[in-house]
Amino acid sequence: MKVIKFGGSSLASAEQLKKVLEIVKSDSNRRFVVVSAPGKRSSEDTKVTDALIKYYKHYTANQDIVIDQEWIIDRYKSIIDGLALSSTILDEISTAIKHLATFPKENNDFLYDTFLAAGEDNNAKLIAEYFRKEGLNARYIHPKQAGLIVTSEPGNARILPSSYDKLEALREQDEILIIPGFFGVTIDNQICTFSRGGSDITGSIIAAGVKADLYENFTDVDGIFAAHPGVVEQPHSIKELTYREMRELAYAGFSVLHDEALIPAYRGKIPLVIKNTNNPSHPGTRIVLEHSGTSSPVVGISGDDDFVSINISKYLMNREVGFGRKVLQILEDLNIRFEHMPTGIDDMSIVLRGRELTPIKEQEILTQLRHLEVDELSIERDLSIIMIVGENMKSHVGVTATATRSLSEAGINLMMISQGSSEVSVMFVVKTESEKKAIRALYDAFFKN
Ligand code: ASP
Repeated sequence: MKVIKFGGSSLASAEQLKKVLEIVKSDSNRRFVVVSAPGKRSSEDTKVTDALIKYYKHYTANQDIVIDQEWIIDRYKSIIDGLALSSTILDEISTAIKHLATFPKENNDFLYDTFLAAGEDNNAKLIAEYFRKEGLNARYIHPKQAGLIVTSEPGNARILPSSYDKLEALREQDEILIIPGFFGVTIDNQICTFSRGGSDITGSIIAAGVKADLYENFTDVDGIFAAHPGVVEQPHSIKELTYREMRELAYAGFSVLHDEALIPAYRGKIPLVIKNTNNPSHPGTRIVLEHSGTSSPVVGISGDDDFVSINISKYLMNREVGFGRKVLQILEDLNIRFEHMPTGIDDMSIVLRGRELTPIKEQEILTQLRHLEVDELSIERDLSIIMIVGENMKSHVGVTATATRSLSEAGINLMMISQGSSEVSVMFVVKTESEKKAIRALYDAFFKN
């Protein structure tokens, strides 16, 4: 039994939906179909979800909403026409979109979420209708009926663990269920969405809930590339990744799947595959608990910018009891998250995401650190983190040597190096101006040479 999720670009037009139908039809194990709202047809296009945000803003600001309503309804209409569906479904969608502008504006914490969820909800109805017309035994199901009950955190819902029992009962259905992604219902019956891009989360929850054998996530790329295609020319797509490796790569810039989407599938021990709607015969990337055979020591290389390092030096730091705690307490009091903390004998660097360090917080940190009588103190911006990732690194000698040799040959100055004890990744900090060059050098070293 498989749960299959399609992203917005796979559902953006009638042509795309025809591909989706073929994919679902080609495997009778594909029993649960989770869908996004229609996405962009081209880079200049607008996602239906973004159009709904505009509609919400105009509605709550008491501005004209007719243009917004018409644009959204027209978007569905062009898909409905392209698939030669009956006008009944168009009427139903049109009524639902207009109905949004009847909900109370005041004291309604869930109004924004209700608007946004309409993109997925109406698309699921449309797709169920299309599948039925094409002879599939398919049915739309609302997350409430499915049992997808979430916390009352608008825009950031989380699944309530009690949902899983009800979701498991869906296994007994013999129809193909079409489930709108991105939102659930609170105990008080309010529509509440996950964070943006959250249809991936729904797919993962349903896969864990129905104890699927596989969660297939269809997007518009041939899986996860071993490096960013905007940096490395035509990188290969990774055949198999562990959840752990995926998490490490996602940390530093890989964003094929929503971060939170991995958790339910991981906990439910459900393998996941990322595939391409436009190239379904490509095997894509499988995300598994453990590698099935031997895999190369490095599976992927990621990089992310906007990091800052707070560099502290104090003579005999190592002998001072509690120094580290005092430094971290300053960060905690200012509600600042830190990412890494490489140390030397008398120095300590704290690496943060740049957005954490507002100018006011920066001043405050400097003042408070000076109270700790440090000898040197500096803040360095424009840093990038580069990670080479692979669980099999631990059984290979010389991985870091290969990496550092290639970086030195490319003339790149390494500012910090860090490897966690689990040896799933090695992290290098470089100046952002050399980030791309460094990623290319590493890609060549591990995958080309
Ligand atoms: N439609 C929602 C968004 O654009 C959720 C999704 O597509 O996953 O964020």
